[in-house]
Amino acid sequence: LNTNENPHPPSQALIDDVAESVRAAAAQLHRYPDRDAVALRTDLAEYLSAVTGTPLQNANIWAANGSNEILQQLLQAFGGPGRVSLGFTPGYSMHELISHATGTTFVPEPRAGLLLPTERIVAAVEEHRPDVLFLCSPNNPTGDSLPLAAIEAAYDAVTQTDRGIVVVDEAYAEFASVDSAITLLAGRPRLIVTRTMSKAFAFAGARVGYLAADPGVIDALLLVRLPYHLSALTQSAAEVAISYAPRLTDQIRQLCATRDEFVATVTDDGWVCPPSDANFVLIGPFSDPPQAWQRLLAEGILVRDVGLSRWLRVTIGTPDQMALLVAALRGLDDLRETT
Ligand code: PMP
Repeated sequence: LNTNENPHPPSQALIDDVAESVRAAAAQLHRYPDRDAVALRTDLAEYLSAVTGTPLQNANIWAANGSNEILQQLLQAFGGPGRVSLGFTPGYSMHELISHATGTTFVPEPRAGLLLPTERIVAAVEEHRPDVLFLCSPNNPTGDSLPLAAIEAAYDAVTQTDRGIVVVDEAYAEFASVDSAITLLAGRPRLIVTRTMSKAFAFAGARVGYLAADPGVIDALLLVRLPYHLSALTQSAAEVAISYAPRLTDQIRQLCATRDEFVATVTDDGWVCPPSDANFVLIGPFSDPPQAWQRLLAEGILVRDVGLSRWLRVTIGTPDQMALLVAALRGLDDLRETT
């Protein structure tokens, strides 16, 4: 329960269809793949148009090996030495690490506790004038979503500085109850929304991430991506997985129901879980999170110590896994902070 994966393996039908599609692709493996992954991007555009109600073409979509590679390509194109990226902590640690790896100066601004008020975003943009602004919605690890009004205000603040792009990391958007920032793309050429197939699509092992943005952004990424970065096998497997999107809805609903039941049970037991719009929750308050993490590990349960002073992060697994966690937490009462 530590990497926010989907606990459900692919269905037998999906396994069979992926195998069939990869078999067909294998016949052409003496050739390089489509370097622009047009068929996959067309499928992703159709999927995003359907779920967000925003008309998108393949020219609005880019795909890579996981959204981490998408983030890296964005920083290679829009960050780099002498440029600044801005993110809010606690947030997704790779925004900072990939910034460093690309020579971009990362500025971490604290959230207000676990939440991120719009005024704080606008003030930080005015102060630091970032070349790349990272917003994460739902945010990892806090689980809260940003209202669209906050993203609009952030975008307006960035455009007023006459520089910079706004990257909204929506890795967990399928679990969220707010509208996607994709609905804001029209007329906002500096807005970029990143997504992944690793979470709701239960396809983490295939490594497929993507973004939606103005075609000009994708043109810039063509300059930095490695030739043929996305293998023919990945492209064919991902196209099959995308075609299963309509069948995901029930599983997503079920995971959210498991999350809400887990939160209700542990809340009854005296724990606190800040509201989460994702497939993970923070739980606490622990007097000593590293010790709590260690004791859960001793019970065979791996959660994430994200380095916060009172909280551990728990991925929502199957109901059986969550029942084991509930039982293990009952043995940690001595580590519950009481003040
Ligand atoms: N963004 C966020 C907020 C994440 O939590 C993760 C995965 N932990 C990613 C991006 C990257 O996921 P992937 O590279 O598997 O697409």
